Amino acid sequence: MNINSILNSIKKANHMLTETLILHYYTKTVCSGCGIDPVNKEAINYNCPVCGGTGYSIEDKMIDIPVSFEYLSSDNKLNSEVNRLKPGVYDDSVILITIDKEEMDEYNIDIDKVDCYEWNNTKYRIISKEPGVLGGTIYEINLMLEKII
Ligand SMILES: [Zn+2]
Repeated sequence: MNINSILNSIKKANHMLTETLILHYYTKTVCSGCGIDPVNKEAINYNCPVCGGTGYSIEDKMIDIPVSFEYLSSDNKLNSEVNRLKPGVYDDSVILITIDKEEMDEYNIDIDKVDCYEWNNTKYRIISKEPGVLGGTIYEINLMLEKII
């Protein structure tokens, strides 16, 4: 097997059983309705209907991507099989996600700029990330995510 056919097999495996993960990117901009007072660095209008008196507005850009998915079982041992999820039988406090290179490229994903992750109406933050590398090519990125309480 050459490297290209190995990478192709990995790509197929990564897309066999997928869940939808939402990546959230937050952008903080100065409020268009009032703005920030240059002297006290606070909102110009504390009763501003646009920003609610904070002086900033937060834009939440969301990207939905398919990811392959594993989870830690309730005894916290790593479940290495990719499981199709059934509601209620897993511990969703820590999840393991694999994002394939195809999605990394297609959506131009920079993991370091993602503010939080959402799956199954629950928000997660990153605990660790590890790229899969073969022949100098990153073919996937593995993330361990923990529920934000
Ligand atoms: Zn405002």
